[in-house]
Amino acid sequence: MSVNTFDIELWAEACEKAARALENCEGHPDDLKFGYAMDEIDSLRALLYHMEGIACTKCAGVGSRAYGDTSTWMGGVGGQQITSGICDKCWGTGRSDRTGPNLRRICVGNYPEGS
Ligand SMILES: [Zn+2]
Repeated sequence: MSVNTFDIELWAEACEKAARALENCEGHPDDLKFGYAMDEIDSLRALLYHMEGIACTKCAGVGSRAYGDTSTWMGGVGGQQITSGICDKCWGTGRSDRTGPNLRRICVGNYPEGS
């Protein structure tokens, strides 16, 4: 599916909204600022999903997902707390046709292909 003019206008509007949100974070504690920024970035990813119609099946196009413990995509030993982390299927793109760098493979080395 190609991106038409209308979609590009939507995209530009979303980017402008994200920029305004970051500007409006002036004076807030850093964690709150980060939360606002991530919300806007998630909106942009959701819009990309809407435009392209190809969402990652594991994170529904968001690019991040909830993990059952604090080790997130790294696996292994982790604390018992639901933790948000980068999606380990699309690696943050939210797309099923294009993945980001596989952090597990980069960090662990010879990780099996397709994992
Ligand atoms: Zn994903």
